[in-house]
This record gives sequence, C-alpha cells and structure tokens, in this order.
Amino acid sequence: MTPDRARQLLEFYQDLGFKTIYRRPTTTMLPVLPLAPAHDTLDKISQDIGDCKRCRLHEQRNRIVFGSGSEQARLVFVGEGPGADEDAQGMPFVGRAGQLLTQMIDGTAAKEGIPIKRPDVYICNVVKCRPPDNRTPEPDEMEICGQFLFRQLKSINPRAICALGGTAAKALLGTKEGVTRLRGKWHKWSGIPVMVTYHPSYLLRPYNQNAKREAWEDLKTVLHYVYD
Ligand code: SF4
Repeated sequence: MTPDRARQLLEFYQDLGFKTIYRRPTTTMLPVLPLAPAHDTLDKISQDIGDCKRCRLHEQRNRIVFGSGSEQARLVFVGEGPGADEDAQGMPFVGRAGQLLTQMIDGTAAKEGIPIKRPDVYICNVVKCRPPDNRTPEPDEMEICGQFLFRQLKSINPRAICALGGTAAKALLGTKEGVTRLRGKWHKWSGIPVMVTYHPSYLLRPYNQNAKREAWEDLKTVLHYVYD
C-alpha cells in the first residue's frame, strides 16, 4: 500500500470514530483492521453507514442492505453482496439463493434437533450495496465496506461465523484459496471460528449436487458446534 493510500484509510477510520488500529498478518488482503469503538452496537454501525457514498457501489444501489437477524445471534452467516431482490427490499438473502439458505438453516436445524430458525442467526454481506450486474466486489470496495462487516461481527461476537462463498472467505481470512480447499475445516477470524462453505447461489446450479451435499455437511458441523 502506498503512503497516500494508507493516509486516506487512516483518515477514513478516524471519520468513523476509530481511535486505535492494528495491522493484520501480511497474508491478508485487508491490511488494516480497526478495533470496534467501545460499546458498539448494530444500530450505531447502521447510523455510521448512513447514506453511505464511501465507495463507487453507492452509484447504482437502491437500498443499503445492512443485515438481518438477532443482535444476540450465536452464529453469523456472511455472504458476498446484495443481488437484485436484496437491493429492492433492503434485506439480505431474500431472493432464490436466500430462500435456499433459509431452507438449509431451518431444515438442517430441525433434522438435527437444534431448536433454531433463520431469525435466530444473523445474516449480512461483505459489501452492503449491490455491485452492478452482480459482479464480484472489487478489493477496494471490500476493504472499505469490510470495516462495517468487522464492526458487525465484533459487536455480535458470535460463537462461529459461516462464510458463504469465496468472496466472504477472502474478506475474513485474507486467503486466495478457493472454497473447495477451504470448506469443511475450521479457520479463525479475530479469534472466532470460521467455517467456509459454498454460496447458496452456486448450489442452485443444477450440476452441483456434490457441492450441495458438502454444504449441508458444513452447515451440520457449524450448527452442532454452536448449539450443542
Ligand atoms: S458498499 Fe459499503 S462502503 Fe460502499 S457505498 Fe455501500 S455501504 Fe458504503
């Protein structure tokens, strides 16, 4: 990172109220991770986002998609970014992929005798505004918006995080490894266990039956870890 870019980032964090920062390991693609302000809450983070124009993704969005679920959630799912349905409704994972995620959470929990449903977990994305044509978020967009994701995670402080797809895995773990290699094993973000699995939109493709089975296995592992 150039000194100018570092200065811009530091000024940006200062505007957000951060007083202290520390550097993540050099393997990560998100080089600076601010400590969450004391007594941070989801409401405070949402207020700080406001009518955000901090990255170019604001240009074509209709609604900021902050996240949904319980502030006391013991499990947080992190996806990539809003799609068209989410952008229209301002809620994460409400389109076809979202319906599959709901089925997976509710269905797996019921089958495994775990008394939770989707509203008991928290669901959000790495970027809060829909990338045009559903493209993958750019690294700078992930870096800027990722700070709000990190504050959400710090504020909720769940027992585990489930990263849905490669973009979420990259944002949290700073790795370039693909989901196929990362899934099924525990990783860590800021001391919190992270399970990586496939994004539900990938599972909707008809030829991905194996991935579907593996995603259900990953979810089973996460649910038992968090709720047993
Ligand atoms: S994606 Fe995040 S940082 Fe970019 S404009 Fe939207 S809320 Fe702001």
